[in-house]
Amino acid sequence: MERISFDIGAPVQGHPESLVHLGGGSPVVIQTMCNTSTQDVESSVAQCREMYRAGAQLIRLTTQGMKEVEALARIKERLRAEGIYTPLVADVHFSSDVALAVAGIADKVRINPGNFARVHEEACDRFRQLIALCREKGTAIRIGLNHGSLGERITSLYGNTPEAMKEAVMEWLRMCEEEDFHKVAVSLKASNTRVMVDAYRLLDKAMREELGHLYPLHLGVTEAGGGDTGRIKSAVGIGTLLREGIGDTIRVSLTENPVGEIEAGRQIVEACEAAPGPIHASSWNEFIIRASVLYGPDLLECRADDCDLSGCTAEGKPLTAEQEDYFKDALLQACRRRFTKPEYIACPGCGRTLYDLETVFNEVRRRTSHLAGLRIAVMGCIVNGPGEMADADYGYVGEGRDHVTLYRGREAVLRHIPQDEAIDKLLELIASDRA
Ligand code: SF4
Repeated sequence: MERISFDIGAPVQGHPESLVHLGGGSPVVIQTMCNTSTQDVESSVAQCREMYRAGAQLIRLTTQGMKEVEALARIKERLRAEGIYTPLVADVHFSSDVALAVAGIADKVRINPGNFARVHEEACDRFRQLIALCREKGTAIRIGLNHGSLGERITSLYGNTPEAMKEAVMEWLRMCEEEDFHKVAVSLKASNTRVMVDAYRLLDKAMREELGHLYPLHLGVTEAGGGDTGRIKSAVGIGTLLREGIGDTIRVSLTENPVGEIEAGRQIVEACEAAPGPIHASSWNEFIIRASVLYGPDLLECRADDCDLSGCTAEGKPLTAEQEDYFKDALLQACRRRFTKPEYIACPGCGRTLYDLETVFNEVRRRTSHLAGLRIAVMGCIVNGPGEMADADYGYVGEGRDHVTLYRGREAVLRHIPQDEAIDKLLELIASDRA
């Protein structure tokens, strides 16, 4: 089976980071995304610099409007002047004009063509224009679809399912084929590891059977949250697929400093290559990732109901009984086998986030940890947050600066709440619903 591959970036002598080879069975590319405001050039350059030093191979920045397009050009210029040539990816959500404007600046553009216009034919025309420009400029495209942000046209045909995600992407890939444009990667992210794994498998099968070749796949568990649970969920979803030979590039989305995503990504890739047997990890983070990659697939597929951690060590010490129980609970929940805690869905934050997402997320977790079985989302922005929080029971969604909208399911029930009152109001809302 032919695996499509291509280079991203422009080669600069003495700078191997300047050209990233994606697909075709090449080593998995580890990428991350800034959570700074792209318009804040200084902070974005500083974060890109840290990411480069940590080994990020592709760096993505939010590019929601024309001001961000200009800022991205300045960020690229500043990084190049410092001798940092890591390819940059523009994250464009809705506007085809923005995608067209940034296609000559970024090395890769992430879009969901389905969001370009309400009328499908119009979205197709705009996608064709983008393909033509990317071909001319040598820019790669990622077609990025997330569960929860599928259009009505597709969900009315296939429901909100992995099948719908696969079908939505195949429509755009068929167009790439018609246009003979192959510098394309695809992602089908979901917060639910079961949905995510199924969607990528279905797409892999459809590409094999219908297209006869495989476009590179960008893997990720979206809105995974942070800390241990974010790492475990990501390692289960990404690790399951990588171990099957599915996936060419990964991003571990964590609601914390994104520089940590790179180490987590590297640990997942290494864990996929490790021999089975008791794990001896140099850190707790490494242990939970390796154990999730090793035991997660069998738990996710119901081929096992438990995992045997005897003989495992972290930081040179055997695991305590509490550590074993804690990890098993988190792993079983990430594999959607047993729910002993609330399920948290949190975006990693990006240039659209106007509040301290990590602090708020940790506080929401601390104050709701007794609510086992509930799905609680904490999202950075009102533009994409409500669509991306999928099947959450309650949502805390940033609304501009210092204000929040609270959701019950998909319905906004309390709008424009000052941020310092919002967690109390969320708890009151949940308590009144459960009374
Ligand atoms: S939901 Fe979060 S990651 Fe997605 S665009 Fe909004 S702030 Fe950024």
